[in-house]
Parts: sequence; structure tokens; C-alpha cells
Amino acid sequence: MSLTNQAWAERRMAAIPRGVSQTSQIYTARAQNAELWDVEGRRYIDFAAGIAVVNTGHNHPRVKAAVQAQLDRFSHTCFQVAPYEDYVVLAERLNRLAPGDAPKKTIFLTTGAEAVENAVKIARAATGRSAVIAFSGGFHGRTFMGMALTGKVAPYKAGFGPMPGEVFHVPFPNAYEGVDLETSLSALDMLFRSDVDPARVAAIIIEPVQGEGGFNIAPTPLLKRLRQICDTHGILLIADEIQTGFARTGRLFACDHAGIEPDLIAMAKGIAGGFPLSAVTGKAAIMDAPSPGGLGGTYAGSPIACAAALAVLDVIQDENLADRALAIGDLFHHQLGRLAAASNGAIGDIRGLGAMVAIELVKNGDPGWPDAELTKAIVAKAQEHGLILLACGTRSNVIRFLPPLTASDGLVLEGLNLLEATLADLGVI
Ligand code: PMP
Repeated sequence: MSLTNQAWAERRMAAIPRGVSQTSQIYTARAQNAELWDVEGRRYIDFAAGIAVVNTGHNHPRVKAAVQAQLDRFSHTCFQVAPYEDYVVLAERLNRLAPGDAPKKTIFLTTGAEAVENAVKIARAATGRSAVIAFSGGFHGRTFMGMALTGKVAPYKAGFGPMPGEVFHVPFPNAYEGVDLETSLSALDMLFRSDVDPARVAAIIIEPVQGEGGFNIAPTPLLKRLRQICDTHGILLIADEIQTGFARTGRLFACDHAGIEPDLIAMAKGIAGGFPLSAVTGKAAIMDAPSPGGLGGTYAGSPIACAAALAVLDVIQDENLADRALAIGDLFHHQLGRLAAASNGAIGDIRGLGAMVAIELVKNGDPGWPDAELTKAIVAKAQEHGLILLACGTRSNVIRFLPPLTASDGLVLEGLNLLEATLADLGVI
């Protein structure tokens, strides 16, 4: 008999720094598709998917088989030392699948933050410029450039400075909080006039849907306008599709909705079904800017992770998971609409793209009065009901739903019923 969740939590507190925070105290024993069992044998429905990582579900049989087969061949050689086929095949596949028609090249790395770091390195090498523009409320990782680009101070940047220089932020449009598209664009214009010459800007980086920032969707006109502004000034457009990628939003990449072609795309999370892998896919000439030896990493593009990613792409295609994301999204919107109507203004907004859905919790239906406490209480109470939820948002008052795209309607509805019971328990509905 394993220890209880509580006993593990105590050992964890003694052994591991508090800086790595947990949203739950569920110590996982096993997980399958959209369900998870803890060390005490309790079952949970998983609406987090390891933060949008297991889009193909926990332990998808085809991903597992691909990994097992690769493990039988070899687990590591380092692509820079003794390269292997899957790295090349996966790169070719992503080059074909990435938005737009320009010829592409792909480099593999290990984490999302590393993909962002490399996208910026490549953009600087390709343009010979140094400045980078990002958006408030954005999240791009916990490494130094990732942190600097992230548009939220606490807890991501506080105490960790100085940050790398020449990083600028402009407001991300947020209809619910009253920040419109024009406000964002005029802030960018002001930045070019008052702070940084556009001729010094290497890149603008944007999440097509902000993940940690609260599932704020970049309006298509913003993405199209950024594309034009970048073209006008010779700036590269980097899409951070780390949370939005791999069918999550109803297309393979969220940029496909807007019909824009970024110069560079940072990918991670859903790419390899839970195995550590990230990538930068970009226009070939730009990707070739850094000299040999300037890019890479010991584990970057691990053979196990590349094998997993090839199976993930097969599953996304064969199980039509992009369409499935849209259907799951509809299911959520329908049920959440019902709950919002009964919530006396506590659920102030429902938004999302595909199976990236969120509710924003406020007091008395007032967007200016975020309810972070209620958000925390819902996440904790849901856990008691057997449902894993994640919070997000710059004001910590958003609950995001990121179920595996392989979850059945029945399981999604069961999870939403648990949410309803949670809200009833807390007196929200
Ligand atoms: N960018 C985005 C949009 C993300 O959502 C995340 C992770 N939440 C990252 C970057 C960083 O990825 P990682 O944690 O794998 O470094």
C-alpha cells in the first residue's frame, strides 16, 4: 500500500522548494485517456491534460507502442553526435503542416521555454536586430528570455531580475476588460514613436490565444495587422503556439483560424503526448541564419520524444482530433452557458477557441471585480468531487478547461456534472 496523498504532500514539502507550486495534492498512480487515479485509488476526470499536453489522452496506445518500439532500438545518442531518422521525418512533417506556403525548416528542443529562447535567437541572428516586443498578460516560459517576455510580474518575474534588455510590452486586447483592438495597436504605434525604433526590432511574439493569461483570444484583425506591421518594418512575427497547438483549438495550429503565416512558430506541450519535446518551425531562410553549432542541445529532439510525436500526429489525423476539439468546445459552451445563467453573475464570461475553453469569475457580474478566491475554492472543491481543473488569468480568476481531445462526450458531460455539483456545493448556482 502506497502512502496517502497527504503523506506524500508532507514529504514533498520537506524535500522540494515551495517555488514549484501545485494546484492539487493528487499524487498520481496511473492515468488513462481522460481519467486519472491517485495513490489512494480515487478516480478523477482530467480537465487539465497536464496543461494541454496529453491532447491525445494519457497513454494513447499508439503513442505508447511507438515509444516502446523506439526504446527497444535506442533511447539517446544526441542528434548532434549520431543523428537518427525520426528527427528528420518529424521535421519534414511539421514543415508541411505549419501554416503558410513558404518553405520551412524545424529544430527540436526539449521544453516550451527553450523553444521561445531559440525562436528569439534565430530572429536576432536573421535580422541582426535585438529588440523584442511581447504582450501584457502573455506567458512565454521561466527561462530568462521567457520570463522577460512574459507579461506578468508576480509570480513569474518578481525577485529574479535583472531581465534581459530590449524587451517591450504592449497591451493585449481583452474585450471583457474593455481593452479593444485599437488600444493595443495605438500602444504599439506609441512604442515605436517613444521607446524603440522599429528598425531595431527583431521580432514580435504573440500567443494566438493567451494560455496562462486567461484564454484571451487574439482577434483575427490583430494578427493580420501584426503581420502587415512586421512586413512593413522587416520585423519577424513569432507565434507562441505552445499551449494552442496540436489540434487544441480546432485546427492543428491556432494561427490557421486567422489565416496568417508567422515567420517562426514555437511549439511544445501537445506535440509529443507527454514526452519532453519542443520545436521551432520557421521560414527556411530565417531558420538557417544561426551558424552551425549555434543551436541544439544534448536532449533536444530526443528519439523517444520524436517517435511519440510522429504517433501523436498520426492520431490527430486518424481520429480527426481537430474536429473533435470543436465538438468538445461546443459541448462546454452549451453546458457552461446554462451554469452561467444560474450563477447570479459569478460566471461573468465564457470564452474559448475549440477545446480551449474558460470561464471568468467575478462578483455581481462586474468585469472590474475579479473573484480569485472563488476561483481557488472551485478548483479545490472540484478535486473533492473527482474533477481536475486549472486556474489561470492575470487576475487569477479564470478557470480553464483543457480536456484530452480523445475524451468521449460521456466523459466530458460527467466532468461537467461534477463541475455543476461543485458550484452547487459552493452556493454559486
Ligand atoms: N509558452 C506558452 C504559451 C506556454 O503556455 C508555456 C507553458 N505553460 C510556455 C511557453 C513554457 O513552456 P514550458 O513550461 O514547457 O517551458
